[in-house]
Amino acid sequence: MNNFLVQPFKNFLKASQFTEKLLEKCCLGSRVIDILFHFPVSVQNRSGDINNFKDKEKLTVILKIIDHAAPRYKSSIYKVFGETTNGDIITIRYFNYNSAFIRRSLPIGEIFVVSGVAQRTMEGIQITHPDVIASSNMLQYYIGPELIYPLISKLQNRTVQYAVSSLLKAMPEIPDWVTAETISKNNLMTFTQALKTIHNPRSFVDESLFASAKKRIAIDELLVNQIRLKQMRESISNCKTKPLISNGDLLEKLVLPFDLTVDQKSCLEDIKKDLSSGKPMNRLIQGDVGSGKTIVAFIAMLIALENKVQATFLVPTEILATQHFESIRKMSENLGIKIDIILSSNRRRRSEQIKKLKNGETQILIGTHALFEDNIEFGKLGLVIIDEQHRFGVMQRLSLIKKCQYPNILAMSATPIPRTLLLGFYRDLDVSTIKTKPEGRKIIKTTVIGVSKINDLIARLREINSQIYWICPVIEESETLMDINTRYEYITSHFSRNDVFILHGKMKMQEKDEIICRFKKGEFKILISTTVVEVGVNILNANVIVIEHAERFGLAQLHQLRGRVGRGNEKAYCVLLYHSPLSNIGKKRLQLMKTVTDGFLLSEEDLKLRGAGDILGKEQSGFNSLRFSDFSNNYDLIKIAEEISRKINPNNIKFLSDIFKRLNEDIIA
Ligand code: ADP
Ligand code: MG
Repeated sequence: MNNFLVQPFKNFLKASQFTEKLLEKCCLGSRVIDILFHFPVSVQNRSGDINNFKDKEKLTVILKIIDHAAPRYKSSIYKVFGETTNGDIITIRYFNYNSAFIRRSLPIGEIFVVSGVAQRTMEGIQITHPDVIASSNMLQYYIGPELIYPLISKLQNRTVQYAVSSLLKAMPEIPDWVTAETISKNNLMTFTQALKTIHNPRSFVDESLFASAKKRIAIDELLVNQIRLKQMRESISNCKTKPLISNGDLLEKLVLPFDLTVDQKSCLEDIKKDLSSGKPMNRLIQGDVGSGKTIVAFIAMLIALENKVQATFLVPTEILATQHFESIRKMSENLGIKIDIILSSNRRRRSEQIKKLKNGETQILIGTHALFEDNIEFGKLGLVIIDEQHRFGVMQRLSLIKKCQYPNILAMSATPIPRTLLLGFYRDLDVSTIKTKPEGRKIIKTTVIGVSKINDLIARLREINSQIYWICPVIEESETLMDINTRYEYITSHFSRNDVFILHGKMKMQEKDEIICRFKKGEFKILISTTVVEVGVNILNANVIVIEHAERFGLAQLHQLRGRVGRGNEKAYCVLLYHSPLSNIGKKRLQLMKTVTDGFLLSEEDLKLRGAGDILGKEQSGFNSLRFSDFSNNYDLIKIAEEISRKINPNNIKFLSDIFKRLNEDIIA
């Protein structure tokens, strides 16, 4: 197989070491493919026609420098005057300049190609801070459409252009791993064509070309993912295991404050069947928020323990890990079992913990990503529980499976995925579903109001006793999204500052935990937060959740957020606060939230309204480490990828897997 794509890009470029380092940093890798996978974001025209350029467009002209006008004060504008071949005068303007440098680069009497953003003014055409000053024979290179790439500081667009075009020139025709038949049947580009198209300005004019090229790359990425899932499934099913059969030692002693629901019971039946089969279990429990998955996982762990093997419980956040640790400790008070917790942020007792884990004293280990670390070794691990499994990648899951003596995996997910999409998502797993919630769950009263009525809302909130979540969209500087701090200022103008705290993803883990902890203890009334509280947090006295910019969230995520409240005995409320204007579909979606309480139904409805594309935005679903595709909007593509995966030559698999591997990245499934 052609290995051009995975060679170091520097072999094909003439660039300084400094530039190479910049490129490497910007494109997240040192291989040819890393550069070629760095896609342009837009195209910019450099007009060569001073009579017909569009205002603020880049204009490229040949200028003879005729004069400099250095201002008296450093704070004013430095002007350089140039004459075109037709005798027009163009002014080049600099703010914050280094005059010596300008004098040196644009000496009077010399002729240059100058290009930059141009404007027509009363004083004629002005070019401000030209980004190109080159010798006059370079004119042709600075006229016409030009691709704009994502950059980092000090790296110039031209450098990326140069790198991309040199590599494309050096690129041989790469033998395609997709057969000609599949290519023509699905109307695909070849891989080589796709790369060339993506880096061709024409594709920005004809968007269908760009889309078609991206589609090809997305299919390849999904293909790699499908292959990995298949390998994972195989590597698990090839493992030796022994039947784990409940002897009742622990289960008989377990006292629950409630009866299991029918669906919980049937899930447990599935699990028992898997565990006793003598083949590795590889099962996913899908269940809406609050449907009671944890207890099912806990009982599965007890069965493992009865068979003298250890169990581990992997969770995505420290808040959640601590919460599970506490609730499991409570449930097992009279069972005499040893439970421990490992967090990345706390290494104090680590060596002692590791010792107890190795000699089998610790029976259940709960932890976050810290569990993947090599030095976490078990005496005899027989069951891995993965909570919120879509937050973890295939490779991460595999690394835990490798620690198993008997690999049995139970994954859990509260992201309701419509039946129609299930196959693409969970190809590697058997699925059990908990549909019904425990009895007596109150319906969370959901209201939809415009932000113009925020004062009424605040007045209501001041009257009630409950604690309140106030969710804001993720902080993003670039957008007009309301800043969490602005909302903080507004709310604290109505409540005491001691009663309002902020939580967001950029805070340190410890800070976050501390705030959640204090909120849990009831020390303050309002928690303003981004969606970091989304997963599994259980705070009984918080019965109101306000979701600001509700129109920007996916229904699945709104539903997840709504599930944060109504966990105690009080009536619970969800206020969807939207900012106008709201599209028709937007209105319908929020109305759906009012009437539909079943997460699965909601996601089916959302699918009908918006198409698969938006159901689980990358960020929202956690499927964010696929770079060119996400499962939801590419369901059709998954089918094509699946078809290709069945026909692919196994020799190509490693190569493919390599080219889609990025620094520190894992593919999520
Ligand atoms: P999730 O499925 O979202 O992870 P949890 O496992 O955290 O949900 O359960 C939510 C709450 O429901 C917990 O407080 C749990 O104790 C309670 N619960 C679980 N099963 C039942 C049941 N069968 N009857 C009543 N309450 C239950
Ligand atoms: Mg949970």
